[in-house]
Amino acid sequence: MSEQAEIGVIGGSGFYSFLDDVTEVTVETPYGPPSDSLFLGETGGRKVAFLPRHGRGHHLPPNRINYRANMWALRSVGVRQIIAPCAVGGLQPEYGPGTLVIPDQLVDRTKTRQQSFFDGETLPDGSVPNVLHLTFADPYCEAGRQASLRAARDQGWQAVDGGTMCVIEGPRFSTRAESRWHAAQGWSVVGMTGHPEAVLARELELCYSSLALVTDLDAGAEAGEGVSHEEVLRVFGENIDRLRQVLFEAVRELPAGSDRKCECGAALGGQEPGFTLP
Ligand SMILES: [Zn+2]
Repeated sequence: MSEQAEIGVIGGSGFYSFLDDVTEVTVETPYGPPSDSLFLGETGGRKVAFLPRHGRGHHLPPNRINYRANMWALRSVGVRQIIAPCAVGGLQPEYGPGTLVIPDQLVDRTKTRQQSFFDGETLPDGSVPNVLHLTFADPYCEAGRQASLRAARDQGWQAVDGGTMCVIEGPRFSTRAESRWHAAQGWSVVGMTGHPEAVLARELELCYSSLALVTDLDAGAEAGEGVSHEEVLRVFGENIDRLRQVLFEAVRELPAGSDRKCECGAALGGQEPGFTLP
């Protein structure tokens, strides 16, 4: 497939629906269908592929998303760098609703998700992935993180530079005990989708970074009723305009594909994957 996009954004229709000339493309993958079609558009001269993480009707819960198909589909249309906005709960009192966190670490507490392309499962074309163990000490692309931080600063939004995103299985929110435990570890925010997106991006040699918008204080950090889905949607809606501004400026700030200075593009370290990357 010819290059149709260079940058991927995994997020809802609020990010692309007002762009001119959005093209919908359906992509097949060896892992089945991605969450939805890809929506290709352009902003600031950069070709972007938008993928609604939960499907356009928001029908997929975080634990049912086909993460491997999503990352495969994005790469197959030419994407090499991904920015992934997501809604998170704040684990520390100072990270209240409306805080933007650009995490530099993550803790995986998911339970049932396919975490790897290198699991020995034969692909439909007969190729068998090798068993590879990739370095994942720093799960996010630093170039992507810095682009988002600069973009937020330019919009007058002081984003939190770094911090740990804890990713839980969902779809339920945490108990108070879980939330207090997460907070006591010093982790910053808690979400449900940031993993395995991050590791699957690494395995496909894609840059990946996250724009984590705090929509609520998680159950351990607040004194009220606990998190509700309505509250999450309301705060996300209140911040979608400025989040979109930051996202689009960050997209423009990302290096051109051929100018990537980070190591994401060589994550396999020359090891043979056993299949052809899309
Ligand atoms: Zn990178």
